[in-house]
Amino acid sequence: LSRRSAQLACVAFRPEMNDTLQRRRSLETELFKSISRNELRMVYQPLIDLRSREIIGVEALLRWRHGELGEISPVEFIPISEENGFIVELGAWTLHRSMEEVGQWDSNINLSVNVSALQFSRGDIVATVEDALKATKFPAKRFDLEITESLFIDETIDVRSSMQELAELGCCFSLDDFGTGYSSLAYLQNYPFSKIKLDRMFISKVTTNKKDVALIEAVLHMAKAFGMETVMEGIETEEQTETLLGLGCRVGQGYLFGRPMSAADLAQLLRRSA
Ligand code: C2E
Ligand code: MG
Ligand code: MG
Ligand code: MG
Repeated sequence: LSRRSAQLACVAFRPEMNDTLQRRRSLETELFKSISRNELRMVYQPLIDLRSREIIGVEALLRWRHGELGEISPVEFIPISEENGFIVELGAWTLHRSMEEVGQWDSNINLSVNVSALQFSRGDIVATVEDALKATKFPAKRFDLEITESLFIDETIDVRSSMQELAELGCCFSLDDFGTGYSSLAYLQNYPFSKIKLDRMFISKVTTNKKDVALIEAVLHMAKAFGMETVMEGIETEEQTETLLGLGCRVGQGYLFGRPMSAADLAQLLRRSA
């Protein structure tokens, strides 16, 4: 590169790079303060029995509203917290808060919480869950940990014994975002999962695309053979629901049945549907 074109390349490149890096850096600094500043909250999305339309559980999803930056998506801040390790603290907060809120409802539906790999490798996930269960008196039998396949990539993490200990407490496990990553059938066979959550990318075209139907069918068959439930994420239409029921899928989640909402709103929804 000539000096002139190198300069041009820099000029063309830099502002964008700076924006991305700067936002990332400020989010990182601000995220550390989010807990003490009370900027975090949990929202809950119902899991539905597709036949009876009853609410059988909720998935807890973390939300962050910063004073100046506004609402920041977990798709943006969770990866940052996974890179710098803050997810261990965020995760503990999430467990405690969601058990506390859901435990106050006049209902015994299940609570599912998303858990990151780092909470297994750097945090003591077993002690953290145990502490939260004890502090909130939430029954372990109603508690479900959603984990993704990324947990199994790092073979130095002793996932199995942590899962075993949590299972002994009575907790269940869902394999989240199934089909998006490094799916291996071995995970399903070798770890104590009770549910497979099929990522919502598979539902979007299910009423028009034969291959997506075939894939969902294959997963349903396999799950059944392993004695597991399949949960379909991201259901947005009645047509999708009909197709899924036809395929034998019994549990789902999506905007059609309810968006993620505050604890108060979900408690009200439960009272109304009771
Ligand atoms: P996920 O665990 O797969 O959660 C489902 C995501 O799909 C949620 O996005 C939910 O709002 C969205 N969703 C549900 N139904 C529909 C639908 O019908 N249509 C569409 N278009 N979207 C739907 P959200 O809340 O933005 O969370 C994104 C991801 O961030 C989650 O994906 C999860 O991986 C992560 N996440 C959220 N909260 C936590 C947390 O507390 N801890 C950890 N480790 N990760 C979290
Ligand atoms: Mg999830
Ligand atoms: Mg999911
Ligand atoms: Mg997903």
